[in-house]
Amino acid sequence: RTPEPCTMVIFGASGDLTSRKLVPALYNLARERRLPGGFSVVGFARRDWTDETFRELLREAVNANSRSGAVDPDLWASFAQGIQYHRGSFDDADAYTRLAERLATIDAERGTGGNRVFYLATPPEAYPTIIAQLGAHGLAHSHGWTRIIIEKPFGHDLNSAQALNAEVLSVFSEDQVYRIDHYLGKETVQNILIFRFANGIFEPIWNRSHIDHVQITVAETIGVEDRGGYYDTSGALRDMIQNHLMQLLCLVAMEPPAVYDADAVRDEKVKVLRAIRPLSVNDTVRGQYGPGSANGRPVRGYREEKGVSPTSQTETYVALKLFIDNWRWAGVPFYLRSGKRLPRRVSEIAIQFKAAPTMIFADTPLNDLEPNVLAMKIQPDEGISLKFSSKVPGQPQIRPVTMDFRYGASFGVTSPEAYERLLLDCMLGDGTLFTRRDEVETSWALLTPILRDWAEGPPQPFPNYEAGSWGPAAADEFIARDGRFWRRL
Ligand code: NAP
Repeated sequence: RTPEPCTMVIFGASGDLTSRKLVPALYNLARERRLPGGFSVVGFARRDWTDETFRELLREAVNANSRSGAVDPDLWASFAQGIQYHRGSFDDADAYTRLAERLATIDAERGTGGNRVFYLATPPEAYPTIIAQLGAHGLAHSHGWTRIIIEKPFGHDLNSAQALNAEVLSVFSEDQVYRIDHYLGKETVQNILIFRFANGIFEPIWNRSHIDHVQITVAETIGVEDRGGYYDTSGALRDMIQNHLMQLLCLVAMEPPAVYDADAVRDEKVKVLRAIRPLSVNDTVRGQYGPGSANGRPVRGYREEKGVSPTSQTETYVALKLFIDNWRWAGVPFYLRSGKRLPRRVSEIAIQFKAAPTMIFADTPLNDLEPNVLAMKIQPDEGISLKFSSKVPGQPQIRPVTMDFRYGASFGVTSPEAYERLLLDCMLGDGTLFTRRDEVETSWALLTPILRDWAEGPPQPFPNYEAGSWGPAAADEFIARDGRFWRRL
C-alpha cells in the first residue's frame, strides 16, 4: 500500500538522527516508489539555513548513509523539490504561526490534503514545549489526519513517562501518537512473530515444559561516543533495557493474538509485562567500563569520556533476571544483558531447551551434552540457528552441530532499514510496531524501583569491567549461581 499524500515536519532537522537515519530512510522509500505523490518534508531547527543549504546537506547525508549507495541525481532532484527548511526556536510562538501558514501553502501547492506527521527528533526536554505549541496553534488537528512520532527516551522513570503521556494526550489522542522503538522496525524482530505463529512446530514446545531458560543479549562495542553528557544521566537500564530488550522479551513471551493488528498485538505484549514478577536490585548486576580496548585499539574508561562525571555512578552494563508468572512461563528465568564496550556488536535471543530426560548412549554422560539452543540473531549476521547433538561419523562420540538459516543466503536482498518500515507504517496509520501508552508505563513501573534503589545505595567502589571484556565478573557469578552460563557470542 502507498500512503495518502502528506507532509512530514521534522523537529530537530539539523540533528544527527535526521541526517543519519530519517532522511536516508525517506530517500530509500522514494527510490522504491513507496512514498505518495506530493510527499513533502519541512525541517524545523534553529540554524540559519536556506532551503538550498538544507537540501544540499541532506544530499550529502544520504550519500554517506543510505543503504542504496550514491544518490541518483534525477531521483534526488524530484525528492528535494518537496523539502523545505523552517527556521525557528521551539519556544517561539511566531515560528508555529509561520509553520501553520507554510503547511497550508504546501497542502495547496502539492496536494497533501492536510495530512501531517510531526516527528520529534529533538532532545527530550523539548518534547513538552513542542507538543504544547502544536496544540496552542491548532496544529494537532487538521482537515486531513495528523500524527506525531516521539523518539526515545520516552521519560526517564515512571513519573516522567506518565507526565509526558499526560502532556501528549492533552493535545493528541492516543491513536495519533506513535512512540518509536526502532528495534521493532527491524525485519529480524518482526520475524520473531512470523517464526512463532506462522509455523506449527515451535509453539507446542514454547513453554515451561520444554524451555530451561531464555537469554536476551544486546551488546555494543562502541562507548558513549559524543553522547557522554546525555548518557551519564541515563545508563544502560534506561537506554536499552526499558525499551529494546523489553520489546524483544514481549515478542518472545507473548501469547498469539487473535488477529494481527495494532491493538491485539499490543494487548498481548502488555499482558506479558503485567505478569512479570516485581524486580529488586538483587535481580540485577551493573557495571561501568574502565580503560581497555575496542577493535584492537586502546580506549579510555567511561569516567574519562567527554561529558561524563569522573565520579559517575551510571551503569554502562546491566544484567537482569526476571520471571513471568503465567501458565506458559512460570519458573522459567529470562536473563537480559546489555552493555557498551563489549567484545562484539551482537543482538540475540537464545532459547535454551531442557536436556533429554535420560541417556541411553553409554559413551556420553548426559552432562557432557550441550543443550539444544534456538538462537535468533537480530544483528549482525541476521538469521536463526538450532543447535542439536549429532553422531560423529565413524566414532561413538556425540557432538553439537547447528542447522542455520541466514537471511542473506535465503533471500539475497538487503533488508530495509528499521526507520523505513516505521515511517511508512506511521504514514499508513498502522501503530502495530509502535509502543502504546500502557506498554511504556508498565515497563517503566517494573524498572523504576531498581533505579530508585540503585540511586540510594551505589556500591563502593562501583563495579568495573575492562573495555573489550564481556562485563563485570559479578555478572558471570550471578548466572552461575543458577547453574547456568552466559552464551559465548
Ligand atoms: P541532536 O543531534 O542533538 O539534534 C538536536 C536537534 O534539535 C538539532 O536539529 C537542533 O537544532 C534542534 N534543537 C534543539 N533545541 C532547539 C530549540 N530550542 N529550537 C529549535 N531547534 C532546537 O539530536 P539527535 O541525536 O538527532 O537526537 C534526537 C532525538 O532522537 C533524541 O531524543 C535522541 O534520544 C533520539 N535518538 C537519536 C538517535 C541517533 O542515532 N542520533 C537514535 C535513537 C534516538 P540546531 O542545531 O539548529 O539548534
